[in-house]
Amino acid sequence: MNDFQFHPPQCANHHIPMVWKVDSDFVYEEEGVRVVVRHITAFACPHGDDQAFPPQVARELYPVIRELISTAKRARAIHPTPLEYLVTA
Ligand SMILES: [Zn+2]
Repeated sequence: MNDFQFHPPQCANHHIPMVWKVDSDFVYEEEGVRVVVRHITAFACPHGDDQAFPPQVARELYPVIRELISTAKRARAIHPTPLEYLVTA
């Protein structure tokens, strides 16, 4: 347990504490490539406008996202039209 879990972050717009939500989307974009990791547990504003991921979640996802982005960039070099890949693990 770290400090982040004991003190939930506040929504930047509503200034109220966020709540645990088990089904958030982690979205990362780089140079026109967008990676969406679904069903991640995160803090979210009850109004649905803001969310925050625990630092360890970002650390765990980062190497996988790097790999997916380089794969998508290679694919884009071959097929320049926008494509969407859905990966389920
Ligand atoms: Zn809010």
